[in-house]
Amino acid sequence: MRFDEGLERAHVRLCFRRFLPKRLVTSHPAAREAFDLSAPAGDASLVRSRDGQSFVPQGLKPGGCLSWSVDLDRLTRLGRRRSPASRVGRDLLVAPGAVMLRPALWTTRMLVTVRFVLPEGYRAALPWPRTKDGSRYILDRYALRLESTVAFGRFALEPLEAAGILIDVAVLDADHRATRAGIRTWIRKAAEAVALLHGRFPAPRLLALVQPVPARDPPVVFGTAMRGGGAHVRLLLASGAKDEALPGEWVGVHELAHLGMPWTLDTDAWFQEGFATYYQEVLRARAGLKTPQQVWQNIHDGFGRGRRSGGKRTLAAESAAMHEHHTYHRVYWAGAAIALLLDVELRRRFPGRWCLDDAMGLWHEMHGGTRAGAARATALMRAADRRIGQPVCAPLTQAHLSRADFPELTQTYAALGLRVEDGRVVLDDEAPLANVRRAITSPAADRRSAR
Ligand SMILES: [Zn+2]
Repeated sequence: MRFDEGLERAHVRLCFRRFLPKRLVTSHPAAREAFDLSAPAGDASLVRSRDGQSFVPQGLKPGGCLSWSVDLDRLTRLGRRRSPASRVGRDLLVAPGAVMLRPALWTTRMLVTVRFVLPEGYRAALPWPRTKDGSRYILDRYALRLESTVAFGRFALEPLEAAGILIDVAVLDADHRATRAGIRTWIRKAAEAVALLHGRFPAPRLLALVQPVPARDPPVVFGTAMRGGGAHVRLLLASGAKDEALPGEWVGVHELAHLGMPWTLDTDAWFQEGFATYYQEVLRARAGLKTPQQVWQNIHDGFGRGRRSGGKRTLAAESAAMHEHHTYHRVYWAGAAIALLLDVELRRRFPGRWCLDDAMGLWHEMHGGTRAGAARATALMRAADRRIGQPVCAPLTQAHLSRADFPELTQTYAALGLRVEDGRVVLDDEAPLANVRRAITSPAADRRSAR
């Protein structure tokens, strides 16, 4: 894949050894408009299918190649809300599946590698692993299929060693107040917080794309975690945010926490978002980025937002249609409430043996990354119950998924010693399960010795 000066066009040449695809597809249907198929490539050519949905190779033989080019400017203007590409100063952010076509059928036996030819001074920020000699990247079968954003541009790309892995941090070309050192400290602390749950960071490598956007507060405006092709996150940094506002802000920890979770179906947002939300809070306390009082206050305030949002359909239904109904608060925080209830139930019934961290470890082993495909959250609950030897997770979650009201927490608050006075959470150490509450927000070493 070769880029023009200024990253205006990408020229792709796709060569085949043995496997010859019948059809090639793009992950972003709108991107088809930006494709130019006129480039010659020996005997083979690429034509649009009759229904316009895919691209069909013609005259392709083993050892042959297909060529096309993509108008990247056009790509940045496509799709009103979610354009497959955007420019940040001189840098380009792009969904690789919008430029690179993939076989409609991609089996695990196919080995696909990519080499980039970039203009002088430009580099690529990609989550993909490299071949042994470092000259090429290796694409897995989800790299072009799942949501993914990669960057090309003139940014610096120094790997940061943190949480037992190498993290590539690319800060894109837009004004921002935070320093490079401040941004690196922020990412490092977020990765270390997530590593507390797994012993080390739950992916072999991580790419963090930091995109400054005009804003002051909150310090990080939005984030996305992506696992296609390798672990990566895109974090929208407020241009006005200062270094000291960054360590311990919630978005970074939340997005990195997703990468330590099993990959689940989109309809299971209550689990994927709810459990990431629960851990964004408790991990910040364990890492010393927030006090226990602060995180219980955050959790309580979040539950309040969740209670006020949605509530007409069951949580299972809201979870499946979250993006249509925009019931984000409801789904995120009801899911976080289930995580808390489950954590307390496990710690209460199996002290020193089971807590939600152990289930998270088990689920990450089963469905971390993309190796084993996406799981259903209900199946994960049953798998945890099989390991525990008793039905705990499945019945508890099922009870809440089939209800339209927010999970009831009065008794749990009383047991944990979470007293609310004028909206302010007061921690009561005399409560029967105050030790469980303290264990939830304690550093891993303390938790082990408490068992
Ligand atoms: Zn999330």
